[in-house]
Amino acid sequence: PSSIRPLVAGNWKMNGLAAHLSELQTMATGFEDASGGAAEALICVPATLIDRAVKSVAGSDFAIGAEDCHVEEKGAHTGDISAEMIADCGASYVIVGHSERRTNHGEDDATVAQKAKAGWRAGLTAIICVGETEAQRKAGETLDILERQIAGSVPAEANAENTVVAYEPVWAIGTGLTPTVEDVAEAHTHIRSRLVEALGEAGQSVRILYGGSVKPANAAELMAVQNVNGALIGGASLKADDFLGIAAVY
Ligand code: PEP
Repeated sequence: PSSIRPLVAGNWKMNGLAAHLSELQTMATGFEDASGGAAEALICVPATLIDRAVKSVAGSDFAIGAEDCHVEEKGAHTGDISAEMIADCGASYVIVGHSERRTNHGEDDATVAQKAKAGWRAGLTAIICVGETEAQRKAGETLDILERQIAGSVPAEANAENTVVAYEPVWAIGTGLTPTVEDVAEAHTHIRSRLVEALGEAGQSVRILYGGSVKPANAAELMAVQNVNGALIGGASLKADDFLGIAAVY
């Protein structure tokens, strides 16, 4: 429904040193003007920057998130970071199941669901990513894949407060390629109906973001698609001009 407040979310991936925080401050200062107050803003940063990013945007409504978390609260998991640690730094969101995690770290739907619950346990909102590969799209399997990923990675207790779903076709991430608006509409409508089937009324208001090569030049047409409730932005979230240019479509 159109009463859903859109979310403009960035994912810095493995990019950003302390010097990049000035870019974040520019985004936080300019976001409300750019979006006309119509959308919420979030940037997910590398773990090394969470604490400083939170301090950089203090006093604004800008939210900071992490890009992944471990399933456990604490323990013998060298190099991993728990949702509690992320919340302890003042972040409020965590991305789980990004395709780069699924591919590079072998994360399956069950793990992604556990990570979403770990985020909730710490009071974070989980951004659960789903999306088909190029081969799956070519084989006509897109809607089946999305159905399976939603069933496996979105826990039954998901609602609009604790969960955001991001549809990110793997072949559109970082490639400059985007699906047609008809394909985006079909995927998002399918995800909406699966969410309503699985979650009941709560599934009506869970935000569904589109991600994959969103830029200022294509954001208006993508964000206008039915059941697209915002964007998850990789490359174009690194520069304030680009991020605010996307926010300006609201
Ligand atoms: C992403 O990794 O979440 C993403 C959508 O990247 P890009 O915008 O660079 O395609």
